Amino acid sequence: MYHGHIFVCVLTRMYRIAFLGPPGSGKGTQAQLLAPTLEVPIVGPGALYRKEIAANSELGQRVRDAVESGGMVPNAITNEVIAKYLREPACVRGYILDGYPREQEQLAALDTAPLPLTHAIYLAIPEAVVYHRLAERLVCICGAQFNRRELALDHGDEARCDACDGALERRKDDDPARIAQRIAHYRAETEPVIASLRERGILVEIDGTRAIAVVHQEIVERIAAATEAA
Ligand SMILES: [Zn+2]
Repeated sequence: MYHGHIFVCVLTRMYRIAFLGPPGSGKGTQAQLLAPTLEVPIVGPGALYRKEIAANSELGQRVRDAVESGGMVPNAITNEVIAKYLREPACVRGYILDGYPREQEQLAALDTAPLPLTHAIYLAIPEAVVYHRLAERLVCICGAQFNRRELALDHGDEARCDACDGALERRKDDDPARIAQRIAHYRAETEPVIASLRERGILVEIDGTRAIAVVHQEIVERIAAATEAA
């Protein structure tokens, strides 16, 4: 009955959703679970940078120059990459943004799209939890993520991926100094974006500290409820 309701929504509504939350809040994991339910693509800057670079487009060349110069990709380029993809046929029935918008300037660019966001899902977790999750995270090249403590690994043990048997490693930006920088950036740049979306009345705040399946279930129910109320 409940699934039937969602099915009707998928047929009759468009979902343009952004996932927000601190690093390690589970945005990527939850976006991957939600996308097939809503039958929309996930749109994130990292994957689109790689796509443009691989296509060797003029935009891709500018992305590569920015990456190779060692700095962050400037907002102007990120905004262009996202805007280009949102105009493609794959996004005509909606999309889920993961990792965008993270700054007010990016939100302002997104606001120039022909259709506005319908929901912003905010995965709230305390800063101490962020730190522990990232410090214990291991990733595989296939995209799967694991937690060192859950795998019961000692330092130095070699861990393998359940899905593809690839070697697991810590992401470069998950070392303690980088984690502190990322949290600082999130507070300064992304929290104001969350405040703006709350003022618009489209923010759906979810307790992101719970199990992945529980968080997913609440996201689906809250989107359905918000859609009905709209
Ligand atoms: Zn793997």
